[in-house]
Amino acid sequence: MNTEAVLDNELDDPSAACAEADHAVLSAEATEIAADGKAVRRPLVRRIVLAAIFVAAVTGIVLGHGLGTLSSFGWENVAAICPLGALESMLASKLLIPQAVAFLLIVIAASLLLGKVFCSWACPVPPLRRIFDAVARKAPTIQIVRSKEADGPSATSLSVVRPLSRRELRALEKACPPSSSSVDSAAGASTPSACASCASGCASASRPALDSRHVVLGGSLLSAAIFGFPVFCLVCPIGLTFAAIIALVQLFGTQTLSWGLVLFPLLLILELTVLRKWCSRFCPMGALMSLISKPNRAFRPKVDESKCLRSHGVDCQICSGVCPEGLDPHTDAAMHECSKCRDCAVNCPANAITLPMH
Ligand code: SF4
Ligand code: SF4
Repeated sequence: MNTEAVLDNELDDPSAACAEADHAVLSAEATEIAADGKAVRRPLVRRIVLAAIFVAAVTGIVLGHGLGTLSSFGWENVAAICPLGALESMLASKLLIPQAVAFLLIVIAASLLLGKVFCSWACPVPPLRRIFDAVARKAPTIQIVRSKEADGPSATSLSVVRPLSRRELRALEKACPPSSSSVDSAAGASTPSACASCASGCASASRPALDSRHVVLGGSLLSAAIFGFPVFCLVCPIGLTFAAIIALVQLFGTQTLSWGLVLFPLLLILELTVLRKWCSRFCPMGALMSLISKPNRAFRPKVDESKCLRSHGVDCQICSGVCPEGLDPHTDAAMHECSKCRDCAVNCPANAITLPMH
């Protein structure tokens, strides 16, 4: 069994695979062997749904007869805006808008059933973020490291590694005690499993009920009430994405050159590059969805511990490493933040994770 076989989900018998991995380690002369990284996979069906929603919205903008965008959509008298925009609009106008209330109730019902599914299956921000990462060569990869001290025990670890920016390196060095983190500053990359606590339990176990996203959410609602218009909508990356497309369509359709053509993409690029952790640190929409989704129990990832490589002595951190929400499916902590993306399930080398309906 080689590294590729393990990472290709061909692991029918985890204990046999571990034995073979150990054999490979024992027969090696070097004290540490690191195999090549492999790209993190995203479920095909999710990519198709994301693309279909985006293409449908853009086609509507181009033809001028669409159902709208993710920020504002509808048909003739049946119209809705995003739940955050709906709340901001009502606070700004100091009025209860029946259509906004009705749509909010629909969102609440959907979130109780499906949780934060919008974040992974509809929002264009995470795919845009991944495109930026790919261009900047900062896309995460799955790494397997087999180590063996001379005449000592051997160990195998699997983790997700992403090259870190200088700012992230400084933050990591500050957050992690030197003994638990072997960040390779020269290479600008985190070492696989160098700090296992950061890769898994740390984020979910210590995650507070309210975080910086909720502060941004509070600020968005407060600013709408104070200034009388939804201030956050001016900088919302979802709105900026579609605003940039509308400006581009206007350029080709009516030969109208607007400031938006420069301003909207510029703001969007700034947000996605400077505020790299937009979704987990700043997004007020994600904060709102996480509050509403708290009672959701369906489609939570479930780990079959008998299949999991951790039960077979392997230090595997892949599921927590690929999770965009920083969750570890082995624990229930903060699992209402799960966006049902299925990344943990499709990347698990032991096929140990399912997302059941209950
Ligand atoms: S459940 Fe998680 S820790 Fe266990 S084998 Fe799968 S990816 Fe690794
Ligand atoms: S726990 Fe799994 S399904 Fe849920 S957000 Fe994380 S990777 Fe996606």
